[in-house]
Amino acid sequence: TTFVDIQDVTHVYARAEDGAPAVQNLNLTVREDEFAAIVGPSGCGKSTLMKLATGLQFPREGTVIVGGREVGAPVKLAGMAFQNPTMLPWRTTLDNILLPLEIVEPHRSRLRKHKAEYVAKAECLLAQVGLKGQGHKFPWQLSGGMQQRASLCRALIHEPKLLMLDEPFGALDTFTREELWCVMRDLHAAQKVTIILVTHDLREAAFLADRIFCMSARPGRIVAEREVEFPRPRD
Ligand code: ADP
Ligand code: ADP
Repeated sequence: TTFVDIQDVTHVYARAEDGAPAVQNLNLTVREDEFAAIVGPSGCGKSTLMKLATGLQFPREGTVIVGGREVGAPVKLAGMAFQNPTMLPWRTTLDNILLPLEIVEPHRSRLRKHKAEYVAKAECLLAQVGLKGQGHKFPWQLSGGMQQRASLCRALIHEPKLLMLDEPFGALDTFTREELWCVMRDLHAAQKVTIILVTHDLREAAFLADRIFCMSARPGRIVAEREVEFPRPRD
């Protein structure tokens, strides 16, 4: 079944320099629990697509449907991770991971009564990404790669149905990046979650995704899609 359905979407930013659309007649459907990767040149509209799918921008034309409902407000069932992990420096790693729960109902009210349960969940996620027992450290005590692992935990703590990854491995050295690919692959195998990954790196897309979508710039739209065939490059 389809989980994300973007139909004939055109979006023009209010402050677009030449009034040109950032994406135009964009179509994308992603299946439930699928791992989709979007590749394309800088400026082709990948971030715009992410914002549209999570309700951080609304399209001028077309429809965006997530989980069977038209997106009319920020999609709280989405988890997000970006190139920069941006953890709050005055909070421990564990308290950074719990942060989304303080924002999203019904977790907010549950968190007060059942904090231990959520802490256990966060610790379980930390172990899954290779950070067992590191939750008490502050983010500035962690390397870049470790912070990015923690930011994946933060994106998953509220058990999102949709995980949006905007170049989350882009700032890491090659070795750390490939380690995190394996972490990401294991997370997807362990959770029921639909993932959309935006990346410049075709090798990364082929390693992780079930399906790769290619975007063109001007107009920004999906111009090709390809199921990743087995055996994958990693096997
Ligand atoms: P990508 O993520 O693929 O680099 P973006 O979605 O960021 O592409 O940008 C697509 C196009 O929209 C670019 O031409 C960019 O300059 C423009 N754009 C992005 N964000 C804004 C904004 N907030 N205001 C005006 N134009 C924007
Ligand atoms: P990265 O390439 O991800 O920035 P670094 O080169 O900074 O990683 O660190 C390499 C390894 O050293 C890390 O995997 C981590 O185990 C350890 N490390 C780095 N910085 C710290 C720190 N501030 N506290 C604890 N361990 C660290």
